Amino acid sequence: METRIFKTKELSEKTLAAAKKQAELFLAQKKRKPTLAVVLVGDDPASHIYVGKKTETCKANGLDALDFHLTPADGFARLEELVNKLNKRDDVDGILVQSPLPKDWDEEKIQALIHPSKDVDGFHPENVGALSLNTIKVLETGLPSCTPAGVMEILKEGGITLRGKHAVVIGRSNIVGKPMAQMLLSGDATVTICHSKTTDLEATCRRADVLVAAIGKARFVTKAFVKPGAAVIDVGINREMRDGKAKVVGDVDQESVTGVASFLTPVPNGVGPMTIAILIRNTVRAAFNRSA
Ligand code: NAD
Repeated sequence: METRIFKTKELSEKTLAAAKKQAELFLAQKKRKPTLAVVLVGDDPASHIYVGKKTETCKANGLDALDFHLTPADGFARLEELVNKLNKRDDVDGILVQSPLPKDWDEEKIQALIHPSKDVDGFHPENVGALSLNTIKVLETGLPSCTPAGVMEILKEGGITLRGKHAVVIGRSNIVGKPMAQMLLSGDATVTICHSKTTDLEATCRRADVLVAAIGKARFVTKAFVKPGAAVIDVGINREMRDGKAKVVGDVDQESVTGVASFLTPVPNGVGPMTIAILIRNTVRAAFNRSA
């Protein structure tokens, strides 16, 4: 079986180009650019890289990005104060608080504090509820969680149909696994969610026509998990030392599943670029929706 390795460069560029066009339209109509406020707390090197990439992608696509940097010593109340201020600013369309926050800081409280109309990550309870109640509408016009929405675009572009198929998601997090399952369900797949307490994980995964791995364990999914011909989506981002060098690898052992899966997203250059592209799309949508 030949495995199609689906790199997302073209699709993410296409998604960004469409968002850029919309951003230009917004500028022409409203005389300002759609604007994303990005808040970073602390000095986690990976978070710095993510935040840098997000602001850079905004600026390259006709949006403005505002950077805010707090330290753990500033305290949680300062973060709440900042989010409240950003909620009130009319020139801010999207607010993103980069995770992880310092230990003991209440991430859920911050997610719920961000105004739902500016919640470009799609983490606010109102947006999570909307996704559950009317998934297709949120995917088309609302603020869906970025990573699973990016996966849906990959499946569409890759010609992977969902109707009547069995989709298995490994992982039940609020940011990937659960919204992913909702979205696959909205595409008429029969969906199974697996997690760390699932028994017989390999056998369950081997029944999947579409297998989404969002676990956070390097090269965990081998060919023993994959039905011949299945489409495999690798959401994982794991840092591994190989031959003395730090390397980013996914949750899927690409070498092992190549030749078994019919379709596979690589890491890097797979789901990651789509997550950022959807974030930008969400920010432009938030700008239009707020000004409607
Ligand atoms: P998480 O730690 O919140 O959730 C991991 C999930 O995996 C949990 O639900 C857990 O039950 C499950 N799990 C853990 N061990 C398991 C096991 N042995 N068997 C079965 N299930 C198991 O992680 P998350 O935030 O959902 O992220 C998952 C992965 O996706 C991470 O590698 C993360 O870095 C990556 N990620 C990538 C992007 C992207 O843009 N590509 C975005 C978000 C997260």
